[in-house]
Amino acid sequence: MRKIIKKHNRSFFRPAEVEKIDADKKEIQTTIGNLSYDYLVLATGTKTNYFGNKTIEKHSMPMKEVSQALDIRSLILQNFEKAAIAETEEERLAFLNFVIVGGGPTGVELAGAIAELKNNILPKDYKDLDPNMMKIHLLEGHSTVLPPMSEHASRKAELFLKDLGVIVHCNTQVKDYDGKTVQTNAELTLKSETLIWAAGVTGNPVHGLNANALQDRSNRYKVNAYNQVEGFDSVFALGDIALMRTEAFPEGHPQVAQPAIQQGQLLGKNLLHLINGNPMKAFVYKDKGSMATIGRNKAVVDLKHYKFAGFFAWFIWMFIHLMSLVGFRNRVIVLFNWTYNYINFDKAARLIIRPYNKS
Ligand SMILES: Cc1cc2nc3c(=O)[nH]c(=O)nc-3n(C[C@H](O)[C@H](O)[C@H](O)COP(=O)(O)OP(=O)(O)OC[C@H]3O[C@@H](n4cnc5c(N)ncnc54)[C@H](O)[C@@H]3O)c2cc1C
Repeated sequence: MRKIIKKHNRSFFRPAEVEKIDADKKEIQTTIGNLSYDYLVLATGTKTNYFGNKTIEKHSMPMKEVSQALDIRSLILQNFEKAAIAETEEERLAFLNFVIVGGGPTGVELAGAIAELKNNILPKDYKDLDPNMMKIHLLEGHSTVLPPMSEHASRKAELFLKDLGVIVHCNTQVKDYDGKTVQTNAELTLKSETLIWAAGVTGNPVHGLNANALQDRSNRYKVNAYNQVEGFDSVFALGDIALMRTEAFPEGHPQVAQPAIQQGQLLGKNLLHLINGNPMKAFVYKDKGSMATIGRNKAVVDLKHYKFAGFFAWFIWMFIHLMSLVGFRNRVIVLFNWTYNYINFDKAARLIIRPYNKS
């Protein structure tokens, strides 16, 4: 954050959690004290949605924050180690059975990445384990994976996943998971030590803004075309936490990076207009398309007039994600790592930096 804002002399960063908003006093309460505001911009994003199931929340691995991704990496590697010394076949299978819930971009990309581990790392690094024992199950409630994308992308993604050895279960919803057994609405029951929950997100609003009046089912703040929160002229919300209904997007914009970036850029200008007494400009979303990568060499891309899949799509995915990284140094390091991994069929980052304790 500091690296990003260092160019702006009148911007300041404070790592703190906002606990409450007092819109009457124009004040926010935070973990480092209170702060008054003239204009407040809320960009608090989303959090994992367990749809109220506390048992799943307790036993599954979420995939929302970087720390959670690191935990997943540790757990996968720990499971390989435990499988290598497991005393019974049943125990070994449970450690090598990975269940991913949610066939959206997160679940699909994760399933592809874990399949690459199975295909390229397990046979080399774990010679005492039979790679065929490792199973990756991807469970999706809809009839296809990648439901928000085109039918072409969904079909191709499922094909690519199956090629990699991922077992795809569509029309399957997880009902419960006690840390050992996955129960679904279908006949399917799976024994697994690892369930990764990528089944959805819900808004992450801050207390205080008359919650019920402001959020819909998805827990997002209803905003107008200027990102102003309904009923509050001085409070704005943008990105994943904002619900801006338009004719083209009656259920709000997709909860991906582009609406957040574009709204942020326009809101910066609009706040200046507001301060200078000029009219604000309404937000219009420029949909640049969507994409998902499925392991090495494969991705699906949906553009407005063009849909494609395979190696070229994967190359475009890599380029766009590389260019989105902050700072030249980061880009060079990531490019070097990717190239090294690509040539050597190796994933360099296989450290259990912080062992994950499954309770
Ligand atoms: C695993 C995963 C993969 C994704 N991949 C893609 C992708 O490939 N392409 C794409 O376009 N989108 C992707 N997305 C979606 C994308 O990350 C979001 O749409 C985007 O980050 C939304 O930006 P935002 O600024 O609204 O919220 P966020 O990026 O979620 O930022 C919100 C921030 O607010 C902080 N916060 C929350 N509450 C408080 C509080 N009370 N006080 C202080 N701080 C608070 C949070 O810690 C967080 O840092 C992915 C999401 C996930 C989870």
